Amino acid sequence: MSRRVAVIGAGLAGLAAADELARAGAEVEVIEARDRVGGRTWSRELKNGAVIEMGAEFILAGNSAVRELAAALGLGLWDKGMRYGDREPRGGIGATAEGLAGAVRAADRALAELEGRRSVRELLDSLEIDDGAREAILARAEISSASSADEIPAGDLAGLAHIDTEPAPSVAGGNQGLALGLATRLGDAVRLGDPAAMIEWGTGGVRVETGSGHGSVADACVLAVPARVINRIDFAPQLPAGKHDALARVGYGHAAKLFVPLHEPAPIGAVMNVPERYWCWTASGPGDSAMPVVSCFAGSPAALERLEVVHGPGAWLNSLAALRPDLALDPGDAALSTWDDDQWIGAAYSISPEHGLAAALAEPVGPLAFAGEHIGGTFNGLMEGAIRSGRAAASAVAGILSRG
Ligand SMILES: Cc1cc2nc3c(=O)[nH]c(=O)nc-3n(C[C@H](O)[C@H](O)[C@H](O)COP(=O)(O)OP(=O)(O)OC[C@H]3O[C@@H](n4cnc5c(N)ncnc54)[C@H](O)[C@@H]3O)c2cc1C
Repeated sequence: MSRRVAVIGAGLAGLAAADELARAGAEVEVIEARDRVGGRTWSRELKNGAVIEMGAEFILAGNSAVRELAAALGLGLWDKGMRYGDREPRGGIGATAEGLAGAVRAADRALAELEGRRSVRELLDSLEIDDGAREAILARAEISSASSADEIPAGDLAGLAHIDTEPAPSVAGGNQGLALGLATRLGDAVRLGDPAAMIEWGTGGVRVETGSGHGSVADACVLAVPARVINRIDFAPQLPAGKHDALARVGYGHAAKLFVPLHEPAPIGAVMNVPERYWCWTASGPGDSAMPVVSCFAGSPAALERLEVVHGPGAWLNSLAALRPDLALDPGDAALSTWDDDQWIGAAYSISPEHGLAAALAEPVGPLAFAGEHIGGTFNGLMEGAIRSGRAAASAVAGILSRG
C-alpha cells in the first residue's frame, strides 16, 4: 500500500489506525489539535512521584487489545492491588455485604434473560432486592457510565459497571505510554498543536487544511476525533445526512477525577460514596508498593454539580476528608481533572450505543473512514474500543484504496 493517508486525531484510535496503515506501507500523516498525543489517555506525575491518570486508568477484564498493545510496545502492567469492580459502599444507605451479593446475583440472572433495551433503573426497579443494595448498584452504574441510571442501558451492569474482583491493571508508568510508544514508531508523521479545520473530499481523495493553514493531500482519511467535536471541522461537501444523524445520536457521559497526595502510606483499597456518586481508591505502583496518592472519580452530571467541580476541588476535598478520615491528605498539591471544559471533547466518554449505531458510525463515506471509542461497539467508552476501532478503520482504508 504506497498511498497517502491523513489521520485526524492522535488519541489511541487515531494512533492505532496510523500504526496499522504505516506498517502496511502507507505514507501517513497524523494531525492532532493538542500539543501532546494520547487525547483522553493522559498520564502525569505529582510532585511526590505518584503517577496519576487524568483520563483512562483501568484495563478491564477481557480488554485484550490494550494488553497486547502494551506487550508489543515493551510496556509492563501495574496490578494496582485494589479491584476496579469491588468498592466498599458508604454513605448511610444500609447496604450489607450479603444484601449486595444477593442483589448482584439477581441482576446477573435478569441480565441473562434480558430482551431489548431497558435502562439500569428499570431493570433494578423490577428486582426484589435490598433497598441499600439497589442504591449501591445504582450508584456504581451512574458513576462508571458517567450518566443518569435512566439513560444507561441495563447491559452496562455486565460491562463497565460489573461488580466483581477481576484484576484491572494499568500500564506501568502510565497508560499514555501506549500513545507515546505508537507515536515514537510513527516519528515525524505526527503533527501536534494544529487542528484539522477543513476537509474537502471526493472520488479523487481528500485535502485537509489545518487551523494554521497547513494543507495536505491524501488518497484517504481516518477521522479519529470524538463525535461531539467532529462538527468543528468544515466538510466540503458536507457529510451525508445519515452519517450526520448517527454522529448526533452518540450520547456522552460526564465525569471528573481528583487526586490528593498522601503524607503517609495508606492500605490499598476502594471506597464508594453512594449518595455523592464518586469512588476513591489507593493503589500500588512499581514493585507493588503503595502509591502516595488517593484517586477519586465522580460520574454523572448530578455528581459533578453536587461536588461543584466547576468551582475547583474545594467541595470535593471536604467530602473526601469526611469520607476518608483514615487518610493523611495533602490537599495543597491536589490535582483536579475535568473534561466537560475540554474543547476537544467536552464530555468524558460515550454512553453504550443503541443497536446498529456503531455500524452506522463505522461505515466509510467515500475516501473517509471513522474511528474512536464511540465506534468501539461492546468496548465503547474504553481504551479497548478506541484501539479496536482504529484498527477496523485501517482495514476500511485498505478497502477504500483498493477501490480507488
Ligand atoms: C475521566 C475519564 C476516565 C476514563 N477511564 C477509563 C478507564 O478506566 N479505562 C478505559 O479503558 N477507558 C477510560 N476512559 C476512556 C478512554 O480515555 C477513551 O475511551 C479513549 O482514550 C478514547 O480514545 P479516542 O482516540 O477514541 O479519543 P481521544 O482520546 O479523545 O482522541 C481524539 C483526539 O482527537 C483530537 N482532536 C479533536 N478534534 C480534532 C481536530 N479537529 N483536529 C485534530 N485533532 C483533533 C483530540 O485532541 C484527541 O487527542 C476514561 C475517560 C475519561 C475522560
